[in-house]
Amino acid sequence: MRRVRSSGTQPEIIVRKILRGMGIKYRSCPRSLPGKPDLVIATQQKAIFVHGCFWHGHHCDGGKLPKSNRTYWRSKQAKNALRDSRNTRTLRSKGWKLMVVWECQTRGSKRLESRLARFLGPHQ
Ligand SMILES: [Zn+2]
Repeated sequence: MRRVRSSGTQPEIIVRKILRGMGIKYRSCPRSLPGKPDLVIATQQKAIFVHGCFWHGHHCDGGKLPKSNRTYWRSKQAKNALRDSRNTRTLRSKGWKLMVVWECQTRGSKRLESRLARFLGPHQ
């Protein structure tokens, strides 16, 4: 079998693995949706964003700014966060249900599993 380089980031791979374990059928990165959610469960009209803590300015250690160029990074994070909330609004107004998984939350995967299970319902 040819080895295919995955386009997903490590946190995204963790989420995908959990979904597969739950028997959930998902698609990754449909370009037609605003904000390009990382994973889409089209049958339920649900989408999952897997956000890198730094790039999307999460309030955790991973979202902390580096010591140099703070102004630059701060405005970069602010821009990303603004874009995120705009995309979220657009998707919600179209009837999509959304869940955001932060990179740091993929480290305790037991808790993440139960969050995903709640989001996606008991069984489909
Ligand atoms: Zn975080």
